[in-house]
Amino acid sequence: MASVPPAHRPSSSPQDFGAFADPFQPDPVLEEVLQQASGLLCRWLGQAGHGTPLPGLSVLPVVEPELAGLGSERLLADLQLVMEGAYNPNHPGALAHLDPPPLSASIVADLICAGLNNNLLAEELSPSLSRLERALCAWMAGRLGLPDGAGGVAASGGSLSNLMALVTARHQRGLACRGEAVVLCSEEAHVSLVKATAVMGLPPEALVQLPVTAAGTLEPQALEERLAQLDRAGTPVIAVVATAGTTVRGALDPLEPIAALCRRYGHWLHVDGAIGAIFAFSERFRTRLTGLGLADSITVNPQKLLGITKTSSLLLLADPRHLQRAFATGLPYMEPSWGGGHQGEAGLQGTRPGEILKLWLGLRQLGLDGVAALIDAAVQRRTDLEQRLRAMGGLSLCSGPLHLLAFRPDGCEGTAAERWSAATRAALLAEQLMLSRPVYRGHHHLKAVLGNPHTLPYHLERLSLVVQQSLAEPPHG
Ligand SMILES: *Cc1c(COP(=O)(O)O)cnc(C)c1O
Repeated sequence: MASVPPAHRPSSSPQDFGAFADPFQPDPVLEEVLQQASGLLCRWLGQAGHGTPLPGLSVLPVVEPELAGLGSERLLADLQLVMEGAYNPNHPGALAHLDPPPLSASIVADLICAGLNNNLLAEELSPSLSRLERALCAWMAGRLGLPDGAGGVAASGGSLSNLMALVTARHQRGLACRGEAVVLCSEEAHVSLVKATAVMGLPPEALVQLPVTAAGTLEPQALEERLAQLDRAGTPVIAVVATAGTTVRGALDPLEPIAALCRRYGHWLHVDGAIGAIFAFSERFRTRLTGLGLADSITVNPQKLLGITKTSSLLLLADPRHLQRAFATGLPYMEPSWGGGHQGEAGLQGTRPGEILKLWLGLRQLGLDGVAALIDAAVQRRTDLEQRLRAMGGLSLCSGPLHLLAFRPDGCEGTAAERWSAATRAALLAEQLMLSRPVYRGHHHLKAVLGNPHTLPYHLERLSLVVQQSLAEPPHG
């Protein structure tokens, strides 16, 4: 006998929504609450420009659950309180970090992803999403120049992608039990490599940080000398990590000569392209990333410039089968994979949301032209700001070909630079312009990340004026 759906149980009050959606008919109350929540979110996004990127301390709602559960009205009011204290990436003056406004289609996809509540651990828990992830990773790998058969896996952030890349490289080299093995990178490579090598049980000196040029890029000559030295000493090399887009200034390590050296010595090349790899989508920048396709593995973070909602990072490999070799454990409690293997066996994470959905929908919303336009406009804003600051005189500027720019007054060092950067950041915040304050080469700088599509020439003009005033002010020291 066919099972008969139980009658729809009315909620205790008209405002209350059931803890779980009715499986037999669309839940009108849930729909209403989702609409109200969407309304809150759209109002928050739409007020961004009237406020400030960084709100002051706000009231936090009650943290602990009450004995009796709450209805939607209280829940939404509490949500609103958290939203009021949130950082505001949709503000045109939000220029401090690699945290752009959320791309609209990725917000929608994130909502659907939450509702689907699938699990990328195994195919039977995410049949369509597993296939989508594999297919989109393969496509992305091809776009970045990796060979046919390339692919990868999504991860919750670039730090994890970098860690998984190094673990995979170490496994593929047969160095898992060699405590003296090293990883080479530039001294301006990302701090996540420090974490990765520590998690891998390696001593701090296993991360060999090589000197950079004045432009902040890895010096191939220095790499060549060190590789020869390690070779003579018989020290095993896990991987060479080239950075495509350093975190302070967006410098691009020269990928082609580095790849040639890796090939000569038979070393694994990982490109940390968390920031820069996506620039291969712009015809104007593709040539600057020549050699990217020669990598064994690439980290790319679409969350950083495209505004795919957090988190969105991919680890792409020329031969993705290495992932399974490094991470597969067998999943005895799952049905066998009917495709290319469970993604839970192709990386460190077990249970994992279908983050690929928001990347896929976001890319489809933008289109290839839209992606290129976002990249080109970001670089244009950096060029614009750089010209304004250069014209002012008296500033040391640190940038690269991407959309990042750091600066400080000429000769302003140590505590003077610390004071200048703090005072100028505060003056900028008073104008609703938020920059960050990294310590770069031993001195505080101000840094602008120009990936925010809402930032107009007018904002850059105001920014320049505040910086100019900071130079006119008596001693930074
Ligand atoms: C941001 C960044 C990372 C780490 O990415 P998360 O998503 O923050 O973990 C790695 N490398 C570079 C160059 C980065 O800029």
